[in-house]
Amino acid sequence: MADTREPIESGCPDPWQYLHPVMRKNFGQWKYHEHPRPGVLRHVAYSGDEIWTVKAGTQRILDVFTLRKLCDIGDQFADGFVHFTLRSNIEFLVKDQTKVDPLIAALEGAGFVVGGTQNSVAMISHTQGWLHCDIPGTDASGVVKSMMDELIDEFRNANMPNRVHITTSCCQINCGGQGDIAINIQHTKPPKINHDLVANVCERPTVVARCPVAAIRPAMVNGKPSLEVDERKCICCGACYPPCPPMQINDAEHSKLAIWVGGNHSNARGKPTFQKLVAAGIPNNPPRWPEATAIVKRILKAYKEGARDWERVNEWIERIGWPRFFEEVELPFTKYHIDTWRGARASFNSSSYIRF
Ligand code: SF4
Ligand code: SF4
Repeated sequence: MADTREPIESGCPDPWQYLHPVMRKNFGQWKYHEHPRPGVLRHVAYSGDEIWTVKAGTQRILDVFTLRKLCDIGDQFADGFVHFTLRSNIEFLVKDQTKVDPLIAALEGAGFVVGGTQNSVAMISHTQGWLHCDIPGTDASGVVKSMMDELIDEFRNANMPNRVHITTSCCQINCGGQGDIAINIQHTKPPKINHDLVANVCERPTVVARCPVAAIRPAMVNGKPSLEVDERKCICCGACYPPCPPMQINDAEHSKLAIWVGGNHSNARGKPTFQKLVAAGIPNNPPRWPEATAIVKRILKAYKEGARDWERVNEWIERIGWPRFFEEVELPFTKYHIDTWRGARASFNSSSYIRF
């Protein structure tokens, strides 16, 4: 009998082995932490040990040369321990205070930006479909780069009333996140169907089941099995496009950007809140997306000037009210901001994916 072999375990490795020794030793035994300057945290343990964290922004999609440069800086100044955050920032862990300033100087000298802590605009989190996904309608990473170039001082400093989390998403349905401000793709026209390809490429029952509003039906077109869309029902979500590429929804003119505000995951003080649409039909305008960036800057300016200390964006809007919010950020309030759609309850149940 052939030798059996151990199964290959995959998944997240045990993080314990990668923790800085000071963190391992004091795990769960931290007394307090403070924020001596933007981009730097100091944690003090009951044992008297302390550890310094220095945070720098990265572009998320890191080439190997940049990664090596960051690791060299980590080896030289940070005991060889680094950590990547969910927002693609790198954190260097240092037990010796005298290394903090040289580490910051080395990072800034190599072109990295130190900041993103406490009341700053943190690094914008983004999806990166333009590189590896099959359905992106925009280059979310490019949107982030353009916006962070404009917001760099808000990353470097901590002058906001509270933390600001911004997210972007390159399609309308999948991996975008809840953010204080979210910039998402918004399709405004139903998909265009290439009937010659549907029968060869798409599993029609799967595509029909995929539509959240039951707008897709099987059809014979030019003697070939295909699909048709009831455009009065279609909400232009793009969910049919991944399982059926001949139902193209991305469009240079009609795929726009939309801005949503007030999303927040639950935290120690409050329940989760869902973001709400505040600006739609914004041109998806590479390479710098100036129209979307201008609106985000207006929202941030109004929030910075109007919110009380420690109010998050959603709390600020709740206090001042939506009419006042639209006045402050100089955005028009239209009938499209009111969610009057009544079909959800019945039509969601007709999908094989979403059940109540
Ligand atoms: S947001 Fe959409 S297009 Fe972008 S990576 Fe996620 S699934 Fe792909
Ligand atoms: S899945 Fe979305 S885009 Fe496709 S037909 Fe249904 S509502 Fe329209």
